[in-house]
Amino acid sequence: MNYYILTLGCQMNKSDSERVRTVLEKMGFTWTDKEEEADLLGIIACSVRQKAIDKVYSRISIWNRRKNKKNLLTFVSGCILPADKIKFLKLFDLVFTMDELPDVPDMIRQNGIVTPYSLETGHQDKALPGYGKPEGIKDFPGLLPEPQQADYPKKHSFSVIQEEDPRKKDNRDIMDGFWHISPHYSSSFEAFIPIQNGCDKFCTFCAVPYTRGREVSRPSEEILLELESLVNRGYKSITLLGQNVNSYGLDRKGSEISFPNLLDKIGQFGEKSEKEFWVYFTSPHPRDMTTDVIDTIARYACLAKQIHLPLQSGDDKVLKRMNRKHDLEKYRDIVRYIRKKIPEATLFTDIIVGFNGETKEQFMNSRKALQEFMYNMAYIAIYSPRPGAVSSKWQDTVPHAIKKERLHVLTSDLEKTSRHHTNEMVGKTYRILVTGRGRKNKYMTGLTEGRINVRFLSNDFSLTGKFTNLKITAATDFSVEGELLNIFETNPQE
Ligand code: SF4
Repeated sequence: MNYYILTLGCQMNKSDSERVRTVLEKMGFTWTDKEEEADLLGIIACSVRQKAIDKVYSRISIWNRRKNKKNLLTFVSGCILPADKIKFLKLFDLVFTMDELPDVPDMIRQNGIVTPYSLETGHQDKALPGYGKPEGIKDFPGLLPEPQQADYPKKHSFSVIQEEDPRKKDNRDIMDGFWHISPHYSSSFEAFIPIQNGCDKFCTFCAVPYTRGREVSRPSEEILLELESLVNRGYKSITLLGQNVNSYGLDRKGSEISFPNLLDKIGQFGEKSEKEFWVYFTSPHPRDMTTDVIDTIARYACLAKQIHLPLQSGDDKVLKRMNRKHDLEKYRDIVRYIRKKIPEATLFTDIIVGFNGETKEQFMNSRKALQEFMYNMAYIAIYSPRPGAVSSKWQDTVPHAIKKERLHVLTSDLEKTSRHHTNEMVGKTYRILVTGRGRKNKYMTGLTEGRINVRFLSNDFSLTGKFTNLKITAATDFSVEGELLNIFETNPQE
């Protein structure tokens, strides 16, 4: 039996999707790239952008029409606003949240689907390898016992309102079942580890706190075990994921370590392991950024010297309307400290143009900030009201044509700041991680530790997933080109 999943949205959804794949494969389903060949069709949805929601509706209407010719089961999960959930219940066979993932095999079987695994063993999915606590985890202090299914009301209709589930009393408890599922990693050298779920910040332009709920930190013992296991299996690039990674542990003050402590433990492991790997994290919030985080990154070789620090706007009044809880001066202090402690670090950001009521002068402050902070990369987005977010109830006062023009202006500013950095790379040698074949024939691509795109002449696909040294020979606005020097793996047996 084949399954197909359409994953929309951000890296967090992709990471969720990897865990859904594990559950389905343990049931005996086989992945197919061709959705018309699938018996089980699912969407990991993103409710924060209208475009993504439109895609969900168009896909499910095609799938539901296909049900006239073939027996199909459909599901939707991911970031879903309560209002969308009610509509989806009428269109999809299954609607579940990520904390309900351990119950998905039961949900599927209740729809009459018998998979090869359930025939052989009689529904013992939870005892399968990869469907329990990460390898090595036995009992650790502070971890509550796994929820026993029998203790809780069954969610047969999958329309149980979340707040009625007693497991919701302790947020971390209800996420444990999800985090205990080993992901079906989609790459053999690059992986993402969720360290937290949800958000407490309530930025007015964002719906995440309403789709994913409040911040919940994953037990640090599990994060460290997952990371160690990935490194021991040869993974080279690992990203810690969360909506606000640097507020990690604050929901469990006193019983969980802080984000800088977590980084420190990872750094210590990196030194002990003597393996070469880079650890990133995304995204931190400027409000919770401490000097400890930056000091720790500076201290350890395995903590990548790349920092993504969302700015959103360079104007204090706009930041206030966005409810960002930081001002430009606080942001400036953080950047100054990064430049002082880790001068080689690359700096990435997110900026929104045309937020409700953004004046020309306020936009000019974003331009000035972009030039002041000399970003290597900025993800610049045109403001569009997101259903469910507070600002969607406000009048969207900036005309679309002006938003587009601001996007264009800021993008050309970014080309200049980025080009300044890429030009400076020419003539120097960089360690890079080879990521695969380039779009252009005879080229391979890779990333520097600072996540700058590189390419080089080579047809050797076996370099993929390995570190190598590259002498940079040319620069474009956002990438560089180089010549391969030599391959040096710290771990010769790999
Ligand atoms: S910090 Fe703001 S933008 Fe980020 S997930 Fe939370 S509410 Fe959304």
